Amino acid sequence: MNNDATDAQIDIVVKKIQSLGHGVNISRGTKRTVIGAIGDEQKLDPKLFDSLPGVEYSMHIVKQYKIVSRESHKQDSVIEVCGIPIGGSQIQVIGGPCSVETQDQMDSAAQHVAAAGCRLIRGGAFKPRTSPYTFQGKGKDGLGMLRQAANKYNLPIVTELMDVRMLDTFLEHDVDIIQIGTRNMQNFDLLKEVGRIDTPVILKRGISATISEWLMAAEYIAASGNHNIILCERGIRTFESAYRNVLDITCIPVLKRETHLPVIIDPSHAGGKAWMVPALSRAAIAAGADGLLVETHPNPAEAWCDADQALNPQDFKDLMVSLQGIAQTIGRSI
Ligand code: PEP
Ligand code: MN
Repeated sequence: MNNDATDAQIDIVVKKIQSLGHGVNISRGTKRTVIGAIGDEQKLDPKLFDSLPGVEYSMHIVKQYKIVSRESHKQDSVIEVCGIPIGGSQIQVIGGPCSVETQDQMDSAAQHVAAAGCRLIRGGAFKPRTSPYTFQGKGKDGLGMLRQAANKYNLPIVTELMDVRMLDTFLEHDVDIIQIGTRNMQNFDLLKEVGRIDTPVILKRGISATISEWLMAAEYIAASGNHNIILCERGIRTFESAYRNVLDITCIPVLKRETHLPVIIDPSHAGGKAWMVPALSRAAIAAGADGLLVETHPNPAEAWCDADQALNPQDFKDLMVSLQGIAQTIGRSI
């Protein structure tokens, strides 16, 4: 309540809380009175109180996300993808091109990704491009190319779903992890639909989303039944223009405290330049990320999408080697 709230104003708030079926706890300080509602506070909307005379502000003190919260599940969640654990002590690097282009390109990508020691491969068949006039992805054919290339090396596949109408096609292609991209983090209908299946989901952080909004988006998936969720930080938009986005390393320890879900980092879309990727990757692993999502292309100069940020096969291999020492230092393997 405000400093000068009267007893009558306090009484109105108390009666309102009680009329909504909740208990009340009044704490009177020397200057200020705090009124607590006791009961299932999810059922109370702060807006019901903000407009009452004498109220300074009202808020939930219990987090809005439940299933994904660390409070509700103390141990780290480990998500098994074709026998590969994500979120355990072994760090997973998911490598591959931004987009699926041709069967040859994907065969070659799968070969170099596997040779570098990666256990999962990525490749976008449906691309969320800023301009409608640029390459939009190979679509369904792309899923087939990714699947075929990955099968040869036993690599589970990660690919982005933008439109719920393609979900059945994704399931027919046995997509192992569905990626929800930054632009769709708050596409709540899409989140609910991927929540109805049990295929693991990588939920990328929205370009301007707070950690709380991001966790609420994860809660949408979880509340629909799918708890196999992996959070992926990919850089957020700030005033800085020297790089594509700002990799929010700070979110790693914060998420580790707030949620039991695995956290991976995409250094490629954060930095936007291949030369930044190794440093960002190492920082992410040192800070406790459970894995990385890294763009690598057999021939970056020829890439149809995000060419500047793709690592070439040799640099990708070198990165994998350089991460080993960091993983070891923090008691993890890669
Ligand atoms: C991607 O991973 O290729 C992609 C489009 O990522 P984001 O949604 O983070 O931009
Ligand atoms: Mn990309």
